[in-house]
Amino acid sequence: MDSYEGIIIKQISYKESSKIIYLYTSSGLISLLVHGAKKLSSPYLRLTENLNLIKVFATGKGLKTLTDGEVLNDYTAIKSDLDKVAYVSHLVELIMTYSESEYDHQKLYDFVLKILDKISESKSYIRYIYMFEIKYLYMLGIAPNFKRCVVCNKTDSLRFSIKSGGYCCSEHYPENEKTYSENSILTLSKLYYHDMNQPLDITIDQATGIEIRNLLDEYYLYHLSFQSKSRKVLSGLLGY
Ligand SMILES: [Zn+2]
Repeated sequence: MDSYEGIIIKQISYKESSKIIYLYTSSGLISLLVHGAKKLSSPYLRLTENLNLIKVFATGKGLKTLTDGEVLNDYTAIKSDLDKVAYVSHLVELIMTYSESEYDHQKLYDFVLKILDKISESKSYIRYIYMFEIKYLYMLGIAPNFKRCVVCNKTDSLRFSIKSGGYCCSEHYPENEKTYSENSILTLSKLYYHDMNQPLDITIDQATGIEIRNLLDEYYLYHLSFQSKSRKVLSGLLGY
């Protein structure tokens, strides 16, 4: 018997009453079959809710079957807040989409747990959503350069360019590029370099928040053609 610890980030129906859950773990994504999980009498009903952090046992070759398990954290504080649910679903879609990518899953897993705790306990949690999105670009190998011109390494007269993937000097700034306020870029770079073990001393006003939201969306769209379904739900809730 094998044991796994992870967060349920997706599930699909399997045959009449069973389902397959997708668990994001420290070694990547794994799928487990849960027999009878859709029955109201199933002992696994509560265990297999989306976004539960669980510890489970499973047997079998190929697609393994869950045999027992416990909930380590059900993130009630997130699930009871519609906005938080939409934001976290957006992050979950990102993780799901790039779960096959070759990166350090242990590192991402630890980071995800920390971020979920912060989102749970914090009132101004949107900072942590943005932090996840900007740091995740590093895992994916397309982090923006916040230090110097991406073309010539110059460090003065810099402006941020999505297309170029970071700062550009006036000579190398691309044409027809959308401009962002210096405040948004500085805030984003602070979030990018933030050490999770330190307190986060950043407040984001609404105008800056909207601009950062827009920048992250554009960056993911331009470099990865990524757009989440949850982002559309969020637009409906937030109005931007
Ligand atoms: Zn340059």
